[in-house]
Amino acid sequence: MPHVSEVADGIYQIEIDEAKTSGTAEPLRCSTVYLIVADGQTALIETGPAVVAPVVLGTIRRLGHDPSRLSYILLTHIHLDHAGGAGTLAHQCPQLQVLVHQRGARHLVEPSRLIEGTRQAFGERFEDEYGPIVPVPEGQVRAVDDGEVIPLGERELRIIYAPGHAPHHMCIYDTKSQGIFSGDALGTPPIESNIVLTVAGFDLDSALESIDKLSQLNPKVVFFSHGGVSRETARLMQSLRANTKAYGDIILGALKVGEGKEQMARRLGAYHSKLIPGEYHLEEHRFEHIIPWYVAHFKRKGVA
Ligand SMILES: [Zn+2]
Repeated sequence: MPHVSEVADGIYQIEIDEAKTSGTAEPLRCSTVYLIVADGQTALIETGPAVVAPVVLGTIRRLGHDPSRLSYILLTHIHLDHAGGAGTLAHQCPQLQVLVHQRGARHLVEPSRLIEGTRQAFGERFEDEYGPIVPVPEGQVRAVDDGEVIPLGERELRIIYAPGHAPHHMCIYDTKSQGIFSGDALGTPPIESNIVLTVAGFDLDSALESIDKLSQLNPKVVFFSHGGVSRETARLMQSLRANTKAYGDIILGALKVGEGKEQMARRLGAYHSKLIPGEYHLEEHRFEHIIPWYVAHFKRKGVA
């Protein structure tokens, strides 16, 4: 059973634990899907992987809405944990449109490259755990671009192109809650009130630009795609930006003098201890998965 809560007026957060749904022993990150309701119209933000599609449909019904009347699915990006169920849901709800940034649209209709990339990231047998990636019928895909406004009842959903985590990543700004559905553009929710880690696997420069662009909207709330919401948005984005930039500087500096992952992790830990002296120690293993993202970025750029 997913955990469902109304996190803002007419916005339902559906948190689904993939591990529990698929019965795997390995705990996986939870996927979060949002149902937006406005004057009897409904839209979904994200779908989670295909394996959770029945849970998503059942939850929409339990909340008193008919999935066969869903108007839209809006995807922040096409990665498996956010959008893997788009094709499955589109086939079951042929009236709905799947909205995705124009740079990602063709991969939903013809997902062979997406499936190949998913195999590399999630393993050869990803379908066993997450379900298949099914093509979205071309007539149901609508490519959108920065600044486009999607009316939904009394609400307006504005498309904010926010690359960095992926070149086709977008966020969605809801006028009624003045909130941002951030996908992976603003990292995952703060693990401690004062600590924010960084944006996942990315192009550093565009990730920083996207954080700035989203900050300028002064959102009242951030709805994360991996659980949680934040209402301390100014502080969130400030520390996310500072961290992301500082990690980059530290890791680039370390790369240039030939330091390895362990030394980098120690330097990042020291950075955090300096930020909050004596109060908080961020264990170095917390940085293990972060460092390769930065190293890959600097190698691609040819600066290290
Ligand atoms: Zn992603």
